[in-house]
Amino acid sequence: MMGQVFFVSGIDTGVGKTVVTGLLARWLLRHGYRAITVKMVQTGNDGYSEDLEAHRILMGGVSFPEDQEGLTAPQIFHFPASPLLAATLEHTTLDLGRIQQCVATLATRYDVVLVEGAGGLGVPLNEHMLAADFAAARGWPLILVTSGKLGSINHTVLSLESAMARGMTLAGLVYNWCPDADSTIDEDTPKYLRQYLQQHHIHAPLLFAPRVTDLHNPPDADFAALFPPHPPVEDWKRLANLDRKHLWHPYASIGNPPPVNFAEHAHGTHIRLADGTELLDAVSSWWCVAHGHSHPAIMEAIRQQSRRMSHVMFGGFTHRPATVLVERLLELLPAGLDAVFLADSGSISVECAVKMAVQYHYAAGHPERCKMVALKGAYHGDTAGAMALSDPDGMHVLFQGVMPHHFFAEQPATPFRGTWNDADFASMERILSEHSREIAGVIVEPIFQGGNAMWLYHPEYLRRLRTLCNQHGVLMVFDEVATGLGRTGRLFAMEHAGVVPDILCIGKTLTGGSMTLAATIASRHVADVISSRGSGAFMHGPTFMGNPLACAAAKASLDLLDQYDWKGNLAAIEAGFREGLSAYQTHPNVRDIRWLGGIGILELKHMPTAAQTAQNCHETGVWLRPFGQWVYSMPPFITTPSEVEQITHAMGRLADLGWENRLAPAQPPADPILDIHE
Ligand code: PMP
Repeated sequence: MMGQVFFVSGIDTGVGKTVVTGLLARWLLRHGYRAITVKMVQTGNDGYSEDLEAHRILMGGVSFPEDQEGLTAPQIFHFPASPLLAATLEHTTLDLGRIQQCVATLATRYDVVLVEGAGGLGVPLNEHMLAADFAAARGWPLILVTSGKLGSINHTVLSLESAMARGMTLAGLVYNWCPDADSTIDEDTPKYLRQYLQQHHIHAPLLFAPRVTDLHNPPDADFAALFPPHPPVEDWKRLANLDRKHLWHPYASIGNPPPVNFAEHAHGTHIRLADGTELLDAVSSWWCVAHGHSHPAIMEAIRQQSRRMSHVMFGGFTHRPATVLVERLLELLPAGLDAVFLADSGSISVECAVKMAVQYHYAAGHPERCKMVALKGAYHGDTAGAMALSDPDGMHVLFQGVMPHHFFAEQPATPFRGTWNDADFASMERILSEHSREIAGVIVEPIFQGGNAMWLYHPEYLRRLRTLCNQHGVLMVFDEVATGLGRTGRLFAMEHAGVVPDILCIGKTLTGGSMTLAATIASRHVADVISSRGSGAFMHGPTFMGNPLACAAAKASLDLLDQYDWKGNLAAIEAGFREGLSAYQTHPNVRDIRWLGGIGILELKHMPTAAQTAQNCHETGVWLRPFGQWVYSMPPFITTPSEVEQITHAMGRLADLGWENRLAPAQPPADPILDIHE
């Protein structure tokens, strides 16, 4: 079991952080915790840490083997200055990886690890990182030491704001006795701070450290409110049990729930679990986390917006986040696609696309044109209208009774890099020539059929479709919820074919995977026709339409597309998939390998069991969620070549496990209706 790490920082240097850290550790030892302290960066010493020595005296004259191993004072610098300056003067930089490693090791041996920072939260550790950034990224709860000196309120409030802005958890404030405090200020400060915590809904205790005049004989204190009960109850385990009983997970039974990982933090390419395990997110959390988890630019945009307005109805109002988002989208969209409807999820964007297509023909005087054509193997979402457009033999077959009925053309058979075969298009041609008078539109996932097929098909299909739709006056709808905004290596998958639809759906990566938002975008012509009849109102209006927080996140995410070489990254990811997956081409369990941009797929003959998949995830540290006969990866665009190698290796191990599995006794036949995978 991992111990709990706390970060002890002060509102300034000289508030007594070291004494308080020692007192906290003393209290922990006396109350049966295995506790240890760390002086993260010691400056002004050579080869030892005087702060650590003070901790040990306050803890009752103890010493630890880890003190000799150098784990408790991982960085010591001679010059008494900020860590950045002290390291610079020694022509070096702080080794943050070492600090992280030392603390992680201690957390495997102790119930509580108190990490004493250097100075306050705003102290720079290197050119890029403040102490607060370092602690926040690790999820260490903060114990903030304050005092009654003149100016303390200001420093405390600024420190709290800095901690909150980074999403840090405040374990508590410790008010330390200060020899030169004015008694009136000393009395008033804690009163005000309590009130401040209350007014700002910060549920953390304010405790008092006793006055220490002799480190060897400190008075008793009570810090119980700061620490988890002992023996530690792992709160997340209690919550995980609650989850198993009461929370429905996607495509999962609540009566016989599958195991789930308890995620606590997600940064960059990794998700950290409550038990300390780090997983490389090889599926971008269902393909949406484009620029990495919790990207600081997106988080900051949400934070800024949350201080102004979290929501206002879009009926009768507009606002800055929605309008600047649409301005940015127009820069990215192909010319002509410029009438934007903000929907709240990918499925809803598909519903809106269908309604637009139907309303277009209604306005044009053809109410009878209300059917759609979709492709076998398609996936367009889980709401009724979107299910009805997804593979008719796929995961939604149970709901046939409530779904509207549409036409389905054969799945395009020519692979993305194959030689185009005219026969591929025959079924679509036949449906349109026989039924176009009933048909409002054709909807496809261009190039990549994801959720039901993991299939990459030939761009020629889309060029033919554009011509055919024009011939029959049928609208062409591209569902780029999964492919839009970069996934295939181009901004939109349609660019591989060089065609533009009449209506486009985007979602998933729109907010960089931070909040739910999607959009349905119609051509000006479609919008004009819809507007030409009666009031011209398009009949859809969800409560959370254009949510300002989500729009602000989306704008920040779209801006990132100009701020790093995501195309270069995706080219490298694609090369990594090509190379890594090719190694499994002749594997006896592999039926096919496919890749494009940030998509890599191993199609297997025999799948591993769910238990094997879970075990593989923990052994390789790579989060994959195979379904059907596909082991696939769609990692964040910031995934490095060595991480892609790690991913393809983990995918290959699943091929091995599935192959071993072929000899296992047959499983009871799956319920043909509920045998769904994704
Ligand atoms: N369309 C496509 C092509 C998708 O891949 C998905 C989600 N996998 C959806 C629609 C539905 O999106 P959401 O889950 O946001 O409703």
